Amino acid sequence: MKVSTTIAEVRSQVKEWKRQGLSVGLVPTMGYLHEGHQSLIARAARENDRVVVSVFVNPIQFGPSEDLESYPRDFERDCTLCEKTGADLVFHPEASEMYAENFCTYVDMDRLTKGLCGASRPVHFRGVCTVVSKLFHIVTPDRAYFGQKDAQQLAVIKRMVRDLSMDVEIVGCPIIREPDGLAKSSRNTYLSPQERRAAVVLSQALAEGRKALAEGERSAQAITGIIRGVLESEPLAQPEYVELVDWETLEPVETADRPVLAAIAVRIGTTRLIDNFVFEEGPECN
Ligand code: AMP
Repeated sequence: MKVSTTIAEVRSQVKEWKRQGLSVGLVPTMGYLHEGHQSLIARAARENDRVVVSVFVNPIQFGPSEDLESYPRDFERDCTLCEKTGADLVFHPEASEMYAENFCTYVDMDRLTKGLCGASRPVHFRGVCTVVSKLFHIVTPDRAYFGQKDAQQLAVIKRMVRDLSMDVEIVGCPIIREPDGLAKSSRNTYLSPQERRAAVVLSQALAEGRKALAEGERSAQAITGIIRGVLESEPLAQPEYVELVDWETLEPVETADRPVLAAIAVRIGTTRLIDNFVFEEGPECN
């Protein structure tokens, strides 16, 4: 497995692969990799001849009061995990390689980025769309892999690819969880033992919401009320939002009469955690 820190090196490697007629899968990450990321890399390795994993803590997707400086990093461990999972190239640029001095060109999106996490993180999705666009231009992947864990991000990336006619297939992958149900996240490492125990309430609350839907409840108010009720039973949990939205447009729905995303953001102490599920009649996803 190769590690590259420059755009030029990645470009020349990918050109060589394409010359040989090989397909390329891309897994964008911010590192501190866990089994969630690993599932994306493994799937990319199954579905493509070559796999590029980017490990880049993207400064422009963090707001001024967010955790850019403290975001966990362990590049050596990340490389070991990438190699054993089937990655061929890890792209690990410095911020200055991605954002030259006087950088001032961004990819921005209306509507889908305004609600849910976008409401409290106003620059986040502009940063995500910009870095993912850059990665697509650098790697020119046939397929790119994103976790359902960040459901709004997945919907935003799919929309960006459609709206800007980008020639890449976006593959959404299911949420990988801890045995007790907590969605795996690099940020779980911020939790104290007591907070870690409390954090299980996110998946428990969503399970109750999903059960109500499965039993035929269709009122968004009723379903979000059930989820909120479970969250409020945990004293350490402070819900930021609990919403039921259309899975394609991310607009709030009153009635779950189409594929819907139930999404929550909750603070456990100072750590902000997100989780979600998608519900559609018939075969469910995730
Ligand atoms: P991050 O490093 O947090 O930016 O995540 C990189 C990619 O891994 C994103 O597409 C995430 O949605 C995905 N991911 C993170 N955690 C999980 C998880 N628990 N299950 C599945 N995918 C995940």
